[in-house]
Amino acid sequence: METKKVLNFGAGPAKLPQPVLIQAQRELLDYDGLGISVLEMSHRTSDFSKIINTAETLLRELLNIPDNYKVLFLQGGGTGQFSAVALNLIGLKKDRCADYIVTGTWSAKAAKEAEKYGKVNVVHPKVDRYTGIPDSSSWSLNPSASYVYYCCNETVHGIEFNFIPDTKGVILACDMSSNFLSQPVDVSKFGLIFAGAQKNVGCAGVTIVIIREDLLGKALKECPLVFDFKVQAENNSLHNTPPCYSIYIVKLVLEWIKSNGGTDSMDKLSKQKSSLIYDIINSSNGFYSCPIDVGCRSRMNIPFRIGNSEGDEALEKQFLEGASKLGMISLKGHRSVGGIRASLYNAVTLEDTRALAAYMKGFLNKHQT
Ligand code: PLP
Repeated sequence: METKKVLNFGAGPAKLPQPVLIQAQRELLDYDGLGISVLEMSHRTSDFSKIINTAETLLRELLNIPDNYKVLFLQGGGTGQFSAVALNLIGLKKDRCADYIVTGTWSAKAAKEAEKYGKVNVVHPKVDRYTGIPDSSSWSLNPSASYVYYCCNETVHGIEFNFIPDTKGVILACDMSSNFLSQPVDVSKFGLIFAGAQKNVGCAGVTIVIIREDLLGKALKECPLVFDFKVQAENNSLHNTPPCYSIYIVKLVLEWIKSNGGTDSMDKLSKQKSSLIYDIINSSNGFYSCPIDVGCRSRMNIPFRIGNSEGDEALEKQFLEGASKLGMISLKGHRSVGGIRASLYNAVTLEDTRALAAYMKGFLNKHQT
């Protein structure tokens, strides 16, 4: 049976590379000649050890992770990490306080969760709308903070940091869920990085944590064992049953990233893809408008309105219907912001992005007055 041609611009769970799906399908019933699926495999077998160890090795290679960092594969999603980060790190200093740079929905949720475990200081003046990154000269960082937290790509609003915040020596923790492995990263600048896999590196169910070794063992006593990074690190993420199949898919995606040129290539491609869309927005005389400051527009998630800056609902509906007829799906903006959002993660091809760009141009020519 022929598969329907779909161009998936969803924000997550998102498109997976076609070769990964084909390999997963091929191996579904019989993994590596074992006669069973990874779905049925004990996490205590040497075969599963090979899968999780290969995933870790590939990740270390792709991100050049220094030896003094641990790599964990955990459950609980990005939201689980909002709690886990605070539970593990807020007790690093006696004041039990943490600095949060809040640039969108996800960092706001993380800050709210951390308030359960200590004092949270939002380092910049309150913003009415998330349309940019508050100028770092307005930040008041607390030198006694246990850590500084930020989200380097806000998936809902489409705001991406193109710099690593200078925390003046305080540990830096980052949510990289929606731009993980889309570019090289200097891991040594961070105390902790986490990323849910379901956007750029796999499917839902597993969250990757990269943590500097000296930060282990400082969790609050109320921290659940499954979220205690020291416990998970000592057990190679196998303190309890891990999300085995999701880890296997991550391994396949990492192999795919490696064979496609690694993070440098992903970076080049994501710049190329996002420029195609931003160029149309910028040259549309306001027909398409992106509310985000030019310097921090995301390469991964591009939100825009159609018709005027508030969005003409009828035109946006027509745009989505027309896109759907061409097989372009999941372009509707997040329910909290409305409008349109095109997500261009690693697995979204240049060809798919060109098709979207061509559709946007055609729609513009037809409707611009
Ligand atoms: N952080 C970011 C940047 C996200 O985009 C998301 C979800 O989309 C989350 C955290 C929450 O992840 P989860 O739904 O896995 O809890």
